[in-house]
Amino acid sequence: MNTTRRDLLTAALTAAGAAVTSDLARAQEHDHQAVPSDPTLRVKALESLLVAKGIVDRAALDALVDTYEHKVGPRNGARVVARAWRDGAYKHRLLINSTAAMAELGYGGAQGEQMVVLENSAKVHNLVVCTLCSCYPWPVLGLPPVWYRSAAYRSRSVIDPRGVLREFGLEIADDVEVRVWDSTAELRYLVLPERPAGTENMSEAELAALVTRDSMVGVGKVTAQRAGTRT
Ligand code: FE
Repeated sequence: MNTTRRDLLTAALTAAGAAVTSDLARAQEHDHQAVPSDPTLRVKALESLLVAKGIVDRAALDALVDTYEHKVGPRNGARVVARAWRDGAYKHRLLINSTAAMAELGYGGAQGEQMVVLENSAKVHNLVVCTLCSCYPWPVLGLPPVWYRSAAYRSRSVIDPRGVLREFGLEIADDVEVRVWDSTAELRYLVLPERPAGTENMSEAELAALVTRDSMVGVGKVTAQRAGTRT
């Protein structure tokens, strides 16, 4: 089972109510590169048990995994961002009616019924959290990462957003306003990150390849060279 599949199963079972716990500190210790071994093992055990008891059909589970590996995920959000960067009219529609503009590209549906896009600029940095649980725009970002679901991120993003951003490697200047947005089951957010300098001649596909999941949650910035992605 590869890392992506483990991530998915972890998230899927968490959504189903399984007690997979983690916190930001633990995620940081692992440098965001790997799922902690204990939850991974627990998820594997749960999957085996659910299949053995006939509660879950392994084929259905594989179809679910395939959906979230290949059909939904951050690549969708990246395409939305790249389109907005290159097409001013699309960007305008995206900021006025995000849900409809995303639907133009075929993205929408469950866990993304009502979307709002937040534009980062030289003066405003937006950060998205769900303080209550882990609401996240699945159609454009896929399933939420471990740290997004952690109690530490959910609470500290509100109390000390600049401190949290610093831990993600983002130092936000004092003259930049940090806005924290609390997602709900009804309303979910996607950050439109700033387009990096030096990308003026890039195609939409090239731009999309630069856009990270973290930048669309607000814990990262897009650089002209693709950075690593936290899990
Ligand atoms: Fe939530």
